[in-house]
Amino acid sequence: MGKGLFIVISGPSGVGKGTICEALMKNKNIDLEYSISMTTRNKRDYEKEGVHYYFTDKNSFERKIRNYEFVEYAIYNNEYYGTLKSEVLDKINNRKYIISEIEVQGAKKIKKDFPNSLLLYILPPSIGELRNRLIKRGTESKEEIERRLKIAIIENKYSYYYDYVIVNDKLEVAVKEIEKIIKNKIIDNT
Ligand code: 5GP
Repeated sequence: MGKGLFIVISGPSGVGKGTICEALMKNKNIDLEYSISMTTRNKRDYEKEGVHYYFTDKNSFERKIRNYEFVEYAIYNNEYYGTLKSEVLDKINNRKYIISEIEVQGAKKIKKDFPNSLLLYILPPSIGELRNRLIKRGTESKEEIERRLKIAIIENKYSYYYDYVIVNDKLEVAVKEIEKIIKNKIIDNT
């Protein structure tokens, strides 16, 4: 049996990270556990507490920072996002494969603390297509979408830091490519 593994999925808002993770979680040949992050941003209508995120307020989040309860955390678009130690450390020590959606600063911290981790960056086919996907998702205002696109352009410049960059043009193709990468990493890890 191999060691535990941290698999990080990053990429701009709207690129399809959530859908990709859902597809990966359904694959019975790869036993992945999803790490639920904590955030201070508002819950979207379709999101469920303890499924998509643990939602909290800024004071509680900052208390947890002071108590060293996070493996990593970052500020994205003026809100806190973080990975709780309680969510991942036991699993990693129990040789589980954890998958987590994390932005670029957090991903760097994970690679530093877990050098064996696998960092995957998902790119959209173009910024225009990313804008279309965000509009279609309909969960953010026009201004919020433009703010997220600006962040995307900056974030994409950090993709060189990742082990693999995958373009999510056709979902099934991207998922297949990622599954292959993960399976190879698991083989190397055992
Ligand atoms: P959203 O608001 O669209 O759910 O997420 C915004 C950004 O925060 C995304 O890039 C997402 O991957 C990132 N994110 C989600 N959870 C975490 C986390 O625990 N840590 C860090 N550093 N980023 C996160």
